[in-house]
Amino acid sequence: MVQGTHAQGRGGQRPATLLLGIEGLAVASVGLEDDGARVVEVVTDEETAAACPECGVLSTSVKERATTRPRDVPYGVAPIRLVWHKTRWRCRETRCPRGSFTESLPSVPARSRLTTRLRSECGERIATDASCVQAAAARYRVSWPVAHAAFVAHVDAELAAPLPPVEVLGIDETRRGKPVWAQDPDTCRWHLVADRWLTGIVDAAGTGGLLGHVDGRTAEVVADWLRDQPQAWLDGVTHVCIDLSGSYAKAVADALPDAVLVADRFHLVRLGNDMVTAVRQRATRELRGRRGRKKDPEWASRRRLLTGHERLSPVAFARLWNGLIDAGDLGVEILHAYAVKEALRDLLALAPTPGTSVPDRSAISHRLWRFLDLAAATDSPEVHRLAATIEAWWPAIEAGLVTGHSNARSEGYNRLAKHQGRNAFGFRNTENQRRRIRWACTRQHRRASAKNREVPGQVR
Ligand SMILES: [Zn+2]
Repeated sequence: MVQGTHAQGRGGQRPATLLLGIEGLAVASVGLEDDGARVVEVVTDEETAAACPECGVLSTSVKERATTRPRDVPYGVAPIRLVWHKTRWRCRETRCPRGSFTESLPSVPARSRLTTRLRSECGERIATDASCVQAAAARYRVSWPVAHAAFVAHVDAELAAPLPPVEVLGIDETRRGKPVWAQDPDTCRWHLVADRWLTGIVDAAGTGGLLGHVDGRTAEVVADWLRDQPQAWLDGVTHVCIDLSGSYAKAVADALPDAVLVADRFHLVRLGNDMVTAVRQRATRELRGRRGRKKDPEWASRRRLLTGHERLSPVAFARLWNGLIDAGDLGVEILHAYAVKEALRDLLALAPTPGTSVPDRSAISHRLWRFLDLAAATDSPEVHRLAATIEAWWPAIEAGLVTGHSNARSEGYNRLAKHQGRNAFGFRNTENQRRRIRWACTRQHRRASAKNREVPGQVR
């Protein structure tokens, strides 16, 4: 039925050629094999394929014929087997060193056993579906290295794009894998053999996602990463959020001297909780001469001690309070540490969140004074250490209270990073791990910017 003029597709192409849709290849015939696979015999339909790759001169001298079987994207239920009948040409150009060459096309490059579109579809699938390399390799019937190389090619081009402008930078550490301990056979002492860390650099207030990942957590590696960025980009950074890490503070002072350092307040809350636990454990050891037991009131309340006062029901708070008061000096010391931690939380709660306004200076100084006053009224060394830390980092803490900036977002990226690691059943290659994590953590941003491109007039 489909004959005559109808058998000619667009641009004079035959329907089967149009259906296959590989640039430069024309379908000569389609046959069926016993297993139901379709065998598509194709010939070159592109005269530049006869151009010598060395000198570019078109050849007309056929040396021999050859067939290759490049693999293509799966289409339909039954497999498709491409058979490409190609020509080996002689180069007749006198000054050309090349004796002969086989045809190649951009859609099926020289020496490649896959079509370009198979390679790019495989790479894109791993990248966009967050599929694992092994699964994509199985689907496209290619080897793991080929699938991985396709993913790298797809991702690297986008990741190499210039960083989006960032005002608030977040710097945070993540552990890479588990720490590894080994026992010295002579001294029987345990020592740390491997404890690897990654530093993540994120857009802490915008949508830029994870901007970079460096090996280690020293001032040097972070400063080096910052110095690698264009000056105009660095000039746009006004604030940098870090946890209370001296090395990150040094990196920022070295590479971003004009940016304001902000101490992450969630990290400070954690320090407060750690302090309460340290007081509880030390006081138990000192006064009971042993570790905590279930029947000890301070042990029974160990979780309530780490819960914010406003989250405890009146009954739960009464149980915490009365139990510890009944425990005597030990309980009172722990309750005091709890009160200091809550005073710190009160102070940090002043930080503005979306919808609340910037706190006034007098409120900040009043709550700081209350915290320091409570801390001074106890003898617990853990409490004094915490107060000293707060005083030492005060300018950065105050910057967080005034601006509301925090590293909350990078915590989210850390979770994503761990998820990627588990998906891959661990990474042996740091480079692959970094790429995977960065890709996962910037996906949201790319999607948003793609949407913006589609609707140029949209007001957001
Ligand atoms: Zn040549």
